[in-house]
This record gives sequence, C-alpha cells and structure tokens, in this order.
Amino acid sequence: MSGIAIGLHGGCGTLSLNLQTEAEWAESRAHMASALRAGWRILRAGGSALDAVQAAVVVMEDSPHFNAGYGAALTEKSTHELDASIMDGASLAAGAVCTVRRVRNPVLAARAVLDSGRAVLLAGEAADDFAASQGLAMVAPNYFTTQRRVDALKLLQQRAATGAFVPASEAEKHGTVGAVARDQQGHLAAATSTGGFNNKPSGRVGDSPLIGAGTYAQDGVCAVSCTGQGEIFIRRVAAYDLAARIRYGGQPLEAAATSLVFETLSSHFIGAGLIALGASGNPVAPFNTLGMYRGWITTDGELTVATHQELHHLGAA
Ligand code: ASP
Repeated sequence: MSGIAIGLHGGCGTLSLNLQTEAEWAESRAHMASALRAGWRILRAGGSALDAVQAAVVVMEDSPHFNAGYGAALTEKSTHELDASIMDGASLAAGAVCTVRRVRNPVLAARAVLDSGRAVLLAGEAADDFAASQGLAMVAPNYFTTQRRVDALKLLQQRAATGAFVPASEAEKHGTVGAVARDQQGHLAAATSTGGFNNKPSGRVGDSPLIGAGTYAQDGVCAVSCTGQGEIFIRRVAAYDLAARIRYGGQPLEAAATSLVFETLSSHFIGAGLIALGASGNPVAPFNTLGMYRGWITTDGELTVATHQELHHLGAA
C-alpha cells in the first residue's frame, strides 16, 4: 500500500465510561471508524494526504459526539465560534479560520483559505463570507447546537454563579477533532477543528487554528494535531515543538511525543493529547487524561479505534 496511513483524535476531554451508555460509546467509535475509512479510501486511490485529512475531519465535524462542527461547545454567550486549520507537509502551505459561525464545515473553509494562497488565517465574519463566496455549505448558527452542550454550559454557569468550587472535568471543558495522514508519495498532512471549550470568552481563539500551536505537518518529520487547553499549546508552540524535537533534537517520534505530553504540557496541570504520524506513517497518540477519542489505520491496513485505555481492533480497513 506504499506506506499510506491515517490517524485521528476526537479530543482528550472524554467522559468517564459510566456517564454514557454502551450504545453511545459504540456510536462514537463507529463515527471515528467512518472518518478513518473516508480518509483511507482517498489514500488508497492515490489521493493526497491533504485531501484525506480533510475528508476525515468533515466526518468528525458532522458527528454530534465531538466538539467540532455539529455538536460544538458554546461560548459564555451561548453562541458558537469555531476554529479550524489544515497544513500540507509537502509545501508547508496552510490555511485556517477562527471564530466562524456559519460555515457548516470549518475545515473546508480552512482548506479554501489554503487553496486561495492569499492568506493563512481568516477571522470571524470575513472568514464566513469568504467560505460562502467559495460555494461552501452555510448554516444558521443554531445548526451546531446540541442539547448536551446546552446542559453542560448551564451547569458550568450555575456553578460559577453560586461560587461553588467544583473544578470542571476535562470532558466539560474540552474536545477537538484532528487528523494526520501519509499518502503514497510519502507526503504528510494534518488538520484540526474545534468549538474550543464550553463557556469560553467570546472572541477567544485557541491553538487549533494556529499553525505550529495546534497543527503542524512537514514531510520527513511528522504530522500532528493537538487537543487540550489551547492557551498552553499556544505558549508552548506545541505542534511545532514536536517537529523541532524530531528535526533538530534527533528524537524518535514516540519519545518526542511522550515527553511533550507527559513532561512539558503536563507541567502546566492541563489535560493534553495529540495524534501524530512519523515520516514513515507510524502513529502515536499520547494523552494524560482519562481517555482520548482516537484511532488509526496503519500502513498494513489494520483499523483501530479507542476512547479510553482499551483498544478496539476492527481488522482490515
Ligand atoms: N485545543 C482546543 C482549544 O483550546 C480545545 C481542546 O482540544 O480541548 O480550543
């Protein structure tokens, strides 16, 4: 299969197992498997890693199980402000959008920015207008809202109003989706999409749309998409830091990713995780929380998905 591979994450803010039914967990695993297969089909047909990560992220954005697109987190004003980015490891071309409210699939808007070559990051209303001008599907902002996010926001705001000091769980706070891929030409790509976190300040931009913070891809080095409290990923330039550890520090991918998550990012006492592929398509998915939605199809075509420690091996993709 010429070394093709794909990996994804659905955020490191996974609920504890007993807070959802087995049917809900099974559905989230099924949606991850569909997302991986969508990317895999493109790679197998000789398509680009860039197209593959885009296709995988679109499926994740359309699923209510993940905090991106449909089912995204709400701001403190009960609105949605979505961030996304995509990067081509072959040319280092990149595109991103932040605080968009109307484009149905923010990753497609990020891709359109990349393809335009006129900017790397477009923000807010202008980014939505640009997406509409490119013929992308647009929706009313409440399309993204699910009851689960409304309830989570209410709970967080009630607690804040009563002054009750109950630290929010990672699941209440976070989530994001991202994908990484390697194509038949050996090119790498990465994409990330998120609603940020519940009750976030309006106008807040996280790491996901920032190239080098939440997303990075460079052929011969790695492709990576991050999840966790974005402010720290921005300050640590986390995604690029992973590439730098490999490129300049000569560290193997696994050692570099493990030390980034469990030492560097964990030293800030935040939930953190990532999905990355090395130059030859080997996946790593470290996380320091209870669970992280994640999955991959390795170069031998075997599909695996997981939400907590247990891995579900689904056989040939
Ligand atoms: N990194 C995302 C952000 O800060 C959220 C997450 O992945 O949990 O916007």
